Amino acid sequence: MENEKVIIAGGGMAGLTLALFLKKAGIPVAVYEAYPEFKNSGLSFTIAPNGMQVLAELGLSTAIIKSGNIISAFEFKNAGGGRIARIRTGHGEQYGQPSVMISRYTLHKALYGAALAQGIAVNYGKKLIAINERGEMVTALFEDGTQVNGALLIGADGIHSATRQLIFPDAPKPAYVGFYGTGGILDIKDINNDETLNKGDLTLVYGNAGFFGYGFDKPDEILWWSSLEVPENEVKSFVTNNTDDQIRNRLLDLFADYHHPVKELVAKTKQFAQTISYQIAPLDGWHKGRVILIGDAGHALSTTSGQGASMAFEDAMFLAKLFKDNGIANYQQIFKLFEAERMPRLKKFFEAAKRGNSDKKVTGTFGLFIKEKMMAFFIGLFGEKGLKWQYSYKINWNK
Ligand SMILES: Cc1cc2nc3c(=O)[nH]c(=O)nc-3n(C[C@H](O)[C@H](O)[C@H](O)COP(=O)(O)OP(=O)(O)OC[C@H]3O[C@@H](n4cnc5c(N)ncnc54)[C@H](O)[C@@H]3O)c2cc1C
Repeated sequence: MENEKVIIAGGGMAGLTLALFLKKAGIPVAVYEAYPEFKNSGLSFTIAPNGMQVLAELGLSTAIIKSGNIISAFEFKNAGGGRIARIRTGHGEQYGQPSVMISRYTLHKALYGAALAQGIAVNYGKKLIAINERGEMVTALFEDGTQVNGALLIGADGIHSATRQLIFPDAPKPAYVGFYGTGGILDIKDINNDETLNKGDLTLVYGNAGFFGYGFDKPDEILWWSSLEVPENEVKSFVTNNTDDQIRNRLLDLFADYHHPVKELVAKTKQFAQTISYQIAPLDGWHKGRVILIGDAGHALSTTSGQGASMAFEDAMFLAKLFKDNGIANYQQIFKLFEAERMPRLKKFFEAAKRGNSDKKVTGTFGLFIKEKMMAFFIGLFGEKGLKWQYSYKINWNK
């Protein structure tokens, strides 16, 4: 059994999805997660149609759509509320699945619940600290002094991956993208004038105080977030030295001229989530010996892309499919096939995310005027077409 078992380090988006597909393929698998127990983490995020396709193959998409909110358009606005551009984000009829905004916790719980229902062992309190490979076996060693043997180890342990540091100690560290992020979630009842808000829109606001976004993660709940440019040497103290009141006051000051509901969203938020944006460009390769990286461990896109989780889902499904079709004994060939398919797509996303980050930078009044005109032109010309390569990607499990 040990020389057939796949060990997954990390029980997040990629790890649980991979475990579900391996189970579907009849391959023995166990997940080892650092947190002591299943935990509520993060705000809400968007799952793009390509990510929803993966969840559909697991039979989870209907429940996810029901628990979240379908996003049918990106509305680009300036601070005053004027439209810069609008694009449809791909309806179900075009791509088979819609874009869905959902609380990260709800989605994570759905994956975890499905794993438990399938009898998959998800072991908590297992922080990977070392990997030993000997003969036909790989051993994962955990901080609590325990260890486990398996045929392969998949590092699905996120952007600060221990697996990556263990197999590629010289790989680049996560790079600061230049933004401090903050956000919150409110009940729609807390917002005045809610009939002016379109529940199918994800609104992206570009103004001189910084970027601000908002949208519904379920019909009665609204998520907002903002990205502010902060120098790297200040960003950590920025996060630790802020009380909720201080964050609220600073943002109210900054966004004083922004249209409704921006100020109200900030004013009514009681608890502010804070993040520092990091990214990891796709490494030159993701595997070494019996170990391979998937999801953020191998390529963390900045949050601008709105595709990080969907990339983790695609990685998981594609790797599991290769194991199903070729058998895990052929792991060397499988790892190469995985990289050959996934690397070009990830590199393309990385380039697209770079452009998205530069749009979020503050430019001064004249720069902003030019930026708005450029955005209106390019989004009008390429916006919807530009999403096609992202959204139409589909892995066929049975072929
Ligand atoms: C603010 C923000 C907004 C975002 N918005 C979007 C969005 O709109 N759309 C989108 O698609 N993506 C978005 N993302 C990105 C998305 O969250 C990630 O790309 C996705 O979660 C990656 O999945 P993963 O499984 O690779 O990593 P994670 O989901 O981070 O899971 C990694 C898991 O590994 C565990 N772990 C870590 N170290 C160890 C260890 N040593 N041993 C064992 N376990 C370990 C962690 O505890 C965690 O559970 C956003 C991210 C952020 C921060």
